[in-house]
Amino acid sequence: MRYPVMIINRDKVARNARTVADLCGRSGIDVWGVTKGLAGDPRLAAIYAEGGFKGVADSRLRNLQKISESGLGLPRQLMRIAMRSELEDLSRVCDVSLQSEPEIIRSLDAICARRGTTRQVLLMMDVGDLREGFWPEELPQAADYFSALAGGVEIAGVATNFACASGLLPSRDNLERLVSYRDMLQAALGYELPVISVGGTCCLKIIEEGLMPRQVNQIRVCEGVLLGMDTAFDREIPYLERDALTIMAEVVECKRKPSVPSGEIGMRAFGEKPAFIDRGMRKRALLGIGRQDVNVDRIEPLNDGVRIVTASSDHLIVDVTEADSTRRKGAYEPGGTMSFRPRYPAMLAAATSEYVDVIFE
Ligand SMILES: *Cc1c(COP(=O)(O)O)cnc(C)c1O
Repeated sequence: MRYPVMIINRDKVARNARTVADLCGRSGIDVWGVTKGLAGDPRLAAIYAEGGFKGVADSRLRNLQKISESGLGLPRQLMRIAMRSELEDLSRVCDVSLQSEPEIIRSLDAICARRGTTRQVLLMMDVGDLREGFWPEELPQAADYFSALAGGVEIAGVATNFACASGLLPSRDNLERLVSYRDMLQAALGYELPVISVGGTCCLKIIEEGLMPRQVNQIRVCEGVLLGMDTAFDREIPYLERDALTIMAEVVECKRKPSVPSGEIGMRAFGEKPAFIDRGMRKRALLGIGRQDVNVDRIEPLNDGVRIVTASSDHLIVDVTEADSTRRKGAYEPGGTMSFRPRYPAMLAAATSEYVDVIFE
């Protein structure tokens, strides 16, 4: 095996997908599996398909292109607001896209109409997270915006997103507001807008509590299915597997060194000035994984007593003085390997680093 490596337990992810699909299904909600956490890996998309998800969604067109080329039959949704320069490719690769700029929607309409195809658009609504989406004051003009479409775009509904730019949490109140925006638009446009889509994982809690408005019928989920975590509500999701993903790295050096450097301390490579606590001489292991591959604040050592000290671009330093080396003899010596559980940012970094292999087993 080459290190570093991120290992995905296929069965655990599949079990999570099935559990989430069942939970949402009981409330009449279709799940679209978000693949961006693993850089649009077609193997993940295949697990989502088996798990009963209704489609795959990603923020990157390139990821959806990969999935499309893998021959997976599920419909594809582009979640990031499209760039004008992407529209031609979007019209070929995606069945649905989230959009918030009338000009772009009209351009997409023209492109699709010229190609003789129709693509669905969900109008993104900003209910307060202040990232993408129509602001309510724009809605009265909506009928004008979309009255002259040429049949290349079908406005199929509305969508919103939580906990991204500002950490806004979903609530009965803001979800009902989303439904009311759909109703206003529907009245203005004079045709049905059947889809109301919400994301991401934090919306599961509202479903669990039975507070999701019954009109909401689509959810886009990534973190919960892959990691069993809900960062926005700061909780472990009790009914999901939380150890489906593991990052492994190899030890390249292990030595006793002081815990405080000797000499004058300046800025380190990543621009902060570190502080040190004198813990005396410590046993430190150096691993062949760094900030190019993971986010060091967002990984958790799986070996008892191991503490992360710091990392630079290519190295991770861990304190193994108190590590339990009786059970895993030699694990902390050069050639040994150590395992970590990634949280969302570390998973994303590992999945997009060309230096980390991703293995499904
Ligand atoms: C990433 C993303 C999601 C999935 O979010 P999770 O909290 O990871 O489940 C949903 N919707 C949009 C628009 C996203 O960008």
